[in-house]
Amino acid sequence: MRLRKTKALRGGTAFLLALVLLFHAFPVCGPRVSAESISDLKARLSELEDMEAENAEKLESLRADASQKRAYRDAVKEKIDIVQQQLDVLIQRIRALDEEILEGEAAIADTKASISDNFDRLKDRLRTMYMTGDATTLSLLLKSTSLVDYRQKSEVVRAIAEHDTELLDTLESDLHSIEEAVREIDAQKAQLGEDKKELDAKSKELSALYEESESLLREAEANEAEAQAEAERIALEKAETDAAIDQWYAEYYAALEAANKNAAGGVGYIGTGAFVWPMPGYTMITCYFGEGGHRGIDIAGVGIYGKDIVAADAGKVIYAGWMGTYGNCVFIDHGNGYSTRYAHASALAVSEGDEVQIGQTIAYVGSTGNSTGPHLHFEVLYSGSLTDPFNYF
Ligand SMILES: [Zn+2]
Repeated sequence: MRLRKTKALRGGTAFLLALVLLFHAFPVCGPRVSAESISDLKARLSELEDMEAENAEKLESLRADASQKRAYRDAVKEKIDIVQQQLDVLIQRIRALDEEILEGEAAIADTKASISDNFDRLKDRLRTMYMTGDATTLSLLLKSTSLVDYRQKSEVVRAIAEHDTELLDTLESDLHSIEEAVREIDAQKAQLGEDKKELDAKSKELSALYEESESLLREAEANEAEAQAEAERIALEKAETDAAIDQWYAEYYAALEAANKNAAGGVGYIGTGAFVWPMPGYTMITCYFGEGGHRGIDIAGVGIYGKDIVAADAGKVIYAGWMGTYGNCVFIDHGNGYSTRYAHASALAVSEGDEVQIGQTIAYVGSTGNSTGPHLHFEVLYSGSLTDPFNYF
């Protein structure tokens, strides 16, 4: 029978488990199951060890998986940071170009205004000269005192026009240079805009990759945590099973010691190895060995209350009295590796240390301890492990 445990037991202490081991008699069949015998406990321990090894391997691989996914996510994050830095630099350069463009446009506007002003002034001067007519110019020239003076005066008029024209030419040329510079800056800005678009796309792509790697990592971490929890659960149950095995051996050696003590002082209680039916006249079985974790067989029947319970073989009484769920009970050691237990009695006919013969009345049927009605709960143990009583009848 496989050992299963109730929730309360799993969370409980070794002490609780030990109590259950000591006193669990199961007078009626039910879903409650506990440690059956040392072989069940050892089988469960070995099963737990297998589970532990398997889970440890799984946990290791899940850890490696999570760590790999974490490294991948971090690498993606690093790439995102680099692209972001590149974007920051680009954005700063674009802003600087925007400022240069603004400055250039202001300079263009200034130069245009200056050209316009100078041109207006030149037009005014020429208009004035022409409106006053040749006469004024002529009289100015005629009033010249000499040819040199005349030449100087006509040179002045010519120079005035020439100076204005030169100024205008310079301004025009400046304007073209500034416009050319602004066009170049615009072209640079357009190129940076293209670069930025590319980086934006790359950043978007990396962000999607990051999201995906994050979600994969979270999944891997959840799996790892689950395996970790399972490892803890197995470790706890292993500790409990270990404690139960220790308890079982403590109980077993105590019983052996008691039996040896009795054997040293008495003679002839070695059993025959052949059992007689412990409940004369009653053969109705209400619960078989192993049913729902049952440790023995339950024998019942109409009018059974108070009837004789007899020793299944000769032996020495190693326990006679009250014991938890067994109620009033008798344990007999047959000195040949076998021992028998009789539980739920209404009264006892023997005391601890008594030597009993095969078929001797040892107790009377009752319903003490954990029992729902009068019956005999009968167990047969060999080398301390529970066995099916029907192996012997
Ligand atoms: Zn029973």
